[in-house]
Amino acid sequence: MGTALITHADCLDHLTPEGHPEQVARLDHLLHALQGLDLLRIAAPRCDDRDILRVHPQAYLDRLTAALPRDGLHPLDEDTWLSPRSLEAARRAVGGAVRAVDAVLAGEVKTAFCATRPPGHHAEAETPMGFCLFGTAAIAAKHALDHHGLDRVAIVDFDVHHGNGTQALLWDEPRALVITSQQYPLWPGTGAASETGGHDNVLNLPLPPGSGGTEMRLAYEGHAFPRLEGFQPDLIILSAGFDAHADDPLAELRWVEEDFRWLTHELCRIAQGSARGRVVSVLEGGYDLRALADSARVHVQELIEAGR
Ligand SMILES: [Zn+2]
Repeated sequence: MGTALITHADCLDHLTPEGHPEQVARLDHLLHALQGLDLLRIAAPRCDDRDILRVHPQAYLDRLTAALPRDGLHPLDEDTWLSPRSLEAARRAVGGAVRAVDAVLAGEVKTAFCATRPPGHHAEAETPMGFCLFGTAAIAAKHALDHHGLDRVAIVDFDVHHGNGTQALLWDEPRALVITSQQYPLWPGTGAASETGGHDNVLNLPLPPGSGGTEMRLAYEGHAFPRLEGFQPDLIILSAGFDAHADDPLAELRWVEEDFRWLTHELCRIAQGSARGRVVSVLEGGYDLRALADSARVHVQELIEAGR
């Protein structure tokens, strides 16, 4: 057993305009911060169309492919951009998450971290948004359910922004429990506690601007952990965004590295109880380069501790 680090150099080829927060340097800093940790490195494979089509229609994939620029950058909206090799990067991100599910379910490793970009949790079935092209975490959950035949998969999204895409893609999937904490109100505007899924399978934890670790712990201990323990997932997938950090420029939560450590530790403890410890973590946001690197490092250290 152990912990996998799944990444690919193609994820550095997704380019965004100068000054865009979702920049290549994020992945460079993060990977540098993970140096020296005891990780089994696995190259993220390029996903198949079949993986993407688990949650997106063929027309959407065709539309993105047709929109790819030959050179330069093409905006899909004011936040979300394509460069010539963006779909190669996004296919590695999806392929990496699918490979991570395969690795933990095969017992190759117990836990896995996917250091890939672009992120995925805002992408809806036919709408790219918020720097995201494909619903990576939702695809990984569907792969675990439909390909591997698991009964129940939980996704916990602690990115500071609401995981609207993951929520929408799994809204009608009773075998998936989606738990998402976010600053609220904040872009994209969704994520109220009243959004509970088609089968009461979505739990939103809105946190007011300025909330720190104390409020986060109360929300998770009071609401998320009991739901997660009651659901008894066979696998937990984490949408690991680190933009709830106090230093992040895009939001106003006040988490620090120890909060990410605590949350990861507790989620791994719950996975130990029902899911044989199996946790797949997928990088989402995090835009202060130092806070991202330091927070991701403590997160991965906890995954390694839990993977022993
Ligand atoms: Zn975010």
